[in-house]
Amino acid sequence: MVIGIIGAGASGMAAALAAAENPQVQVVLMERQARVGRKLSATGNGRCNLTNLHCVSGGYHGDDAQFALSALDAFDVDATLAWFRGLGLYTVAEESGRVYPYSDQANSVVDVLRFGLEKTNIRLLTGFEAVKVKKTNDGFRVESTEETILCDRLIVACGGLAGTKLGGSMSGYKLLRGFGHKCTKLRPALVQLKSGWSGCASLKGVRTNCRASILRSGAVHSESTGELQFTEYGLSGPVMFEISRDACQGSGEWICRLDFLPDMEENTLRSELMRRRQTHLKAEDLLTGILHNRLGRVLTQAVGISGYVPIAQLEEQEIAAVCAAVKNFEVALTEPMGMDSAQVTAGGIVTAEFDPETMQSRLVPGLFACGEVLDIDGDCGGYNLQWAWSSGRMAGLSAGRM
Ligand SMILES: Cc1cc2nc3c(=O)[nH]c(=O)nc-3n(C[C@H](O)[C@H](O)[C@H](O)COP(=O)(O)OP(=O)(O)OC[C@H]3O[C@@H](n4cnc5c(N)ncnc54)[C@H](O)[C@@H]3O)c2cc1C
Repeated sequence: MVIGIIGAGASGMAAALAAAENPQVQVVLMERQARVGRKLSATGNGRCNLTNLHCVSGGYHGDDAQFALSALDAFDVDATLAWFRGLGLYTVAEESGRVYPYSDQANSVVDVLRFGLEKTNIRLLTGFEAVKVKKTNDGFRVESTEETILCDRLIVACGGLAGTKLGGSMSGYKLLRGFGHKCTKLRPALVQLKSGWSGCASLKGVRTNCRASILRSGAVHSESTGELQFTEYGLSGPVMFEISRDACQGSGEWICRLDFLPDMEENTLRSELMRRRQTHLKAEDLLTGILHNRLGRVLTQAVGISGYVPIAQLEEQEIAAVCAAVKNFEVALTEPMGMDSAQVTAGGIVTAEFDPETMQSRLVPGLFACGEVLDIDGDCGGYNLQWAWSSGRMAGLSAGRM
């Protein structure tokens, strides 16, 4: 039996390795880029956060997030780590539960998968872009501009639209729509949010811990604590990725409220700053030693205090205003950055049209899909790759069953 797999990213490679466990199966893995796992090698800032020890079902989203649970249960975090160990990957977990290769190189993950694919019953075709796919009487016909592959079963593992420069595209959605499948609205997720506040550009590159809350017309949309990063256009970093899902979509005023000292009470901060009135320092150093220097200066200026004024001359209300800015700073949000900057696509092919126990299409027998192309996306911290491994393995094992 020949199993065709379109896409040699995370889920496609997991599917190929699973299907090829059956020695009677011949796998043809088709990848349009020159090498496998291109996006994978850029994940986790080049470190690849391949899963999370604390993966919880609530960390997945989609019109029917429950769809993901069978695959995630059947191939859970422990099974995934054992599988990677078998492939020769040594991993390490951070306190947060995020798992990385011990080498700290995403390429190590790609390499062990690539080595695993070197099996006699796996044929890897790189530079093969599936442009046309058709159901035949006894299987499927996959065409690139140069070659045609015939297979008995077909797995679409083309990924989503996010990370366009790394290979994200509409391809998988189009191929599956050609078989009659529907697609929900696609939105960028795990993405930085744009702001019109000029302070962002001055703080470009600054990283800080904070409690961040996104509010829509005054009501809390989402909140979390973690690392924030300022960029030229707005707010980024792990904490924003965690809370940005569906932010700035739809009407209303969207703002991000930031507490730059979540572990310190406002009163304690006020006493500390009042103490600084006995020094010869200038206002530009009012928050020095507490916050990142640039952040401290921008916050002091934002409440209208000139950096050249001696702290000793500041009024009590001015000190209180600085404390309020540190504990409750509001930044207006405009829109998310585009798909090219997003880590994952929210939305995708409607999961109700697939069997969650096999990943097989309910519309076209013998057709399977896995990974980001389906309407499932996960939280920041290894959830999306875990979905790719689990759904890919389930599709590969099911397709490879005689
Ligand atoms: C910058 C960045 C960092 C990320 N970091 C993390 C992280 O640390 N942890 C985490 O869990 N998730 C992370 N993600 C998300 C994660 O990488 C994806 O969710 C995951 O790779 C999806 O796997 P996939 O197999 O569905 O798709 P992909 O890994 O995108 O693979 C799809 C493959 O299909 C190929 N393809 C598409 N169309 C065709 C076609 N017509 N013919 C042939 N081949 C085709 C593509 O070239 C690609 O190689 C990150 C994403 C980005 C963009």
